[in-house]
Amino acid sequence: MHDVIIIGAGPAGLSAAFWCDELGLDTLVLEQADQIGGQLHRIYNPIKNYLGVKTRNGAELFELFSRDVDDADFDLWTGTVIDSIDLRAKRISLRSGEVLQAISVIIATGVRARELGIPGEKEFAGKGLIESGARDRDLFAGKDVCVIGGGDAAVENALLLGESCATVTLVHRGKKLRARREFAERVQPNNRITVFTESVVTRIMGDTEVEAVEIQRKGGIKPFQLAVRGVLIRIGVEPNTELFREQLQVDEHGYVGVNSEQETSVPMVFAVGDVSNRLAPTISSATGAGATAAKVISSRLNRKPDG
Ligand SMILES: Cc1cc2nc3c(=O)[nH]c(=O)nc-3n(C[C@H](O)[C@H](O)[C@H](O)COP(=O)(O)OP(=O)(O)OC[C@H]3O[C@@H](n4cnc5c(N)ncnc54)[C@H](O)[C@@H]3O)c2cc1C
Repeated sequence: MHDVIIIGAGPAGLSAAFWCDELGLDTLVLEQADQIGGQLHRIYNPIKNYLGVKTRNGAELFELFSRDVDDADFDLWTGTVIDSIDLRAKRISLRSGEVLQAISVIIATGVRARELGIPGEKEFAGKGLIESGARDRDLFAGKDVCVIGGGDAAVENALLLGESCATVTLVHRGKKLRARREFAERVQPNNRITVFTESVVTRIMGDTEVEAVEIQRKGGIKPFQLAVRGVLIRIGVEPNTELFREQLQVDEHGYVGVNSEQETSVPMVFAVGDVSNRLAPTISSATGAGATAAKVISSRLNRKPDG
């Protein structure tokens, strides 16, 4: 019987684990990936907004987190797949057959990039699908590329790729870009970027690598093909809540509802980080929420740290 089982080892889960350990709680962290760190591994831009720390990218911040994790005393299992979970009973069954039991559970499963679900999206991974404008702009220098999406992430990436690519076609299904003004205003004067609003990409095409996209414009009779060598998709994120969504309150987007103590609608089940924070997902809010949940659990169990 563990005091706490934490599901997910991104910034929120690691912060919760770190605090639980400091507060003397018997803590186990379950991470499905082979490595810990969550979205930090997908950040290729400098991190300038985590107070007191500036890093060149997520990997560098991850190194700093890792040092603290190495020094801490909680159990951490990576590559661990959860088969099912009974939140009320705090019982977790693993694919390995093992069954775990805890007094409390902290859900820190974060979010994943939303998929378009169109032909070519999976087939061309690593063959013209661009993961990050910051990371891949030199790789696609001088080439024609397409960016799909109209929010901050899509427009910021279009601007980054516009610095080196021959042309960037930004395809957005809405009437207007949703990105913040400082990004959207920089798109118009950039003569390398063309924006197609009220348009959708219906197919990514090519032989062995990306060679074109098929675009359907609103009111257009049939889709047309645009020759591109790279495609970057940024159409938002969705929470990783499938495993337990039926057992607690989630909002209409699937994000877990929590109170000011980070507790969900199930007593002694907490949710921290992006999975319960649709409006302000950041590293600082994730680590802060992790600390809050750990402190609340510690005070409920009335534990004092050793020594
Ligand atoms: C490109 C990019 C740039 C960003 N830039 C910034 C920035 O400059 N500043 C900033 O503050 N934030 C930034 N962010 C956001 C920041 O990375 C997130 O807010 C933060 O990582 C959230 O942490 P988290 O622990 O809640 O979730 P995540 O980082 O998503 O971690 C969740 C973890 O849970 C694991 N998991 C999921 N499901 C399960 C399961 N069923 N079982 C076990 N484990 C599971 C995942 O594998 C993952 O390791 C950026 C994000 C991206 C993608």
